[in-house]
Amino acid sequence: MTLLCVPILVHDAAAALADAAAAKAAGADLAELRLDGWFQGTGDAAEMAAVADLVRDCPLPVIVTCRAASEGGHYDGPDDARVALYEYLGTSQHPPRYLDLELATYERSANLRQKVHLAIDYPARRRADAPSLILSIHDFNTRPADLARRIARIAVNDAASIIKVAYRARSIRDNLELLDVITETGKPTIALGMGEFGLMSRILAPKFGGFLTFASLRPTTTTAPGQPTIAELLNRYNFRSIKRSTRVYGVIGWPVEHSISPAVHNAAFDAIMHDGVYVPLPVPASDDPEASYASFKATVLELLGQPGMYFSGASVTIPHKENLVRLAREQRWLMYEESESTGAANTINATTGNVVIYNTDIPAIVECIQAEAGLLAGKRVAVIGAGGVGRGATWGLAKAGAIVVLFNRTPDRAIAAATQLTATLTPGVGTITAGHWDDLGTVTFDIFVNCTPLGMKGGPSPDESPLPEGTVRRLTPATIVMDTVYNPSETPLLRACKAAGAKTIPGVEMFIRQASLQSLKWTNQTPPDGLVRMACQNELSRGGPA
Ligand code: NAP
Repeated sequence: MTLLCVPILVHDAAAALADAAAAKAAGADLAELRLDGWFQGTGDAAEMAAVADLVRDCPLPVIVTCRAASEGGHYDGPDDARVALYEYLGTSQHPPRYLDLELATYERSANLRQKVHLAIDYPARRRADAPSLILSIHDFNTRPADLARRIARIAVNDAASIIKVAYRARSIRDNLELLDVITETGKPTIALGMGEFGLMSRILAPKFGGFLTFASLRPTTTTAPGQPTIAELLNRYNFRSIKRSTRVYGVIGWPVEHSISPAVHNAAFDAIMHDGVYVPLPVPASDDPEASYASFKATVLELLGQPGMYFSGASVTIPHKENLVRLAREQRWLMYEESESTGAANTINATTGNVVIYNTDIPAIVECIQAEAGLLAGKRVAVIGAGGVGRGATWGLAKAGAIVVLFNRTPDRAIAAATQLTATLTPGVGTITAGHWDDLGTVTFDIFVNCTPLGMKGGPSPDESPLPEGTVRRLTPATIVMDTVYNPSETPLLRACKAAGAKTIPGVEMFIRQASLQSLKWTNQTPPDGLVRMACQNELSRGGPA
């Protein structure tokens, strides 16, 4: 079982003990007492005794760490003093379960090593209750160049019971190396990525047999960038259910740090008892579209090819929806009409071994509108925004028989999209034309769909609405206005249109439907609607995507 360890930065013994008790109550297996902000290394016996008392009184088994400033800690005193502390604790009546020391310090001098060996469960002098030694490697900036050689030195060292390596992950692909490290060393191993890109290795440690993962008690008490809280690991990622057989899914996009999808999909998997975990998979956008495509492609193909990962699917979001269609064409993956016609897809399904891609945004929008409007044949619809979602909405609604006019701030984009999408329609079903952005103030339609980020929390114009006041005044109780923006759930557009008497459909309805359709593709089961709704609303009320 992979242990869950809460690090506690000790500044005061009583507060540290209170945190350790809270960590235990929250479900932690271990506490790492980080002494480097407290222990001064003065050589004072009272200082050492205070640490020993803290270890003795801690309600959880303890890792003692006095991290050197050179590896991201706060201790910049002499090494002799902290190794003397380790020796004191290791030979005390209530020794800690583990002592953590940096490999670099351990290798610095034979004299120091000798003292460390006195403190631990060293082969030459076995003691049943002596601490086990964690030899560790940290780099807060990047992947250490000589990582493999350093890990190999720990692996063959009899004094080290556990290998720890933590470095700042530069991409999702670094996680794959870290997870390989766990399986290849032949010793209990902790291998964790730091920063936003490293979260995957922290969540998936149990799947690959990692010795432990760290989780902070509070968002403000992390000891490494990207460290999740214990509540996030246990509740959002169902950490205790992750095992070797667990399938891995995720949301690929940029940014995805605040995506509500992990909470929603993991809650859905839990409800239908699907052995899966869903993680954020950030793949940055770049000014150079070819560079963006290259990193998207490399990430997806490596995830699919990673032994033991069982990477089974992903939600794909901005800016990679078009990259997914390009990749599917290159790899000859099966793709449905929605993606083929609109050039955008948002779902990878690899559960059967063959990769299939879908666009669940389109049926989600069409179903939301049909639920209010009934049959769409002959209905006049204004779609505002000709980006990925706008083009998908336009195509899906026209395919259902609507007369769609596409408006876009940049007119050429609307004209090009209308021409291209019309070519994919069966003649005589629906129609698509481009409208003039400036006409939005004078038009009347049966249905309006906002597919721009106007009104979105954290977006460029959170207080703006795409519909001018004149148009809002002309809305009737039969008019339907849908906003695809889902945070906030009531956008300025929806507020104004509701006040004018129109029927409104919030973007969260689309989110729920597209997520449920993805879950159905991956698991063959539809998650309970109420549960998906509640998970969405909980996340949005917590702040949702910024
Ligand atoms: P996109 O490809 O970036 O397209 C954005 C569109 O909005 C473009 O047409 C753009 O016009 C227009 N736009 C941007 N800023 C504008 C402004 N200040 N004034 C007027 N028009 C502006 O994005 P997308 O993937 O289509 O996503 C669009 C929206 O859909 C997102 O904001 C998101 O909230 C929503 N969404 C909802 C869900 C859901 O499940 N509810 C899922 C995905 C997306 P130009 O062409 O002139 O740049």
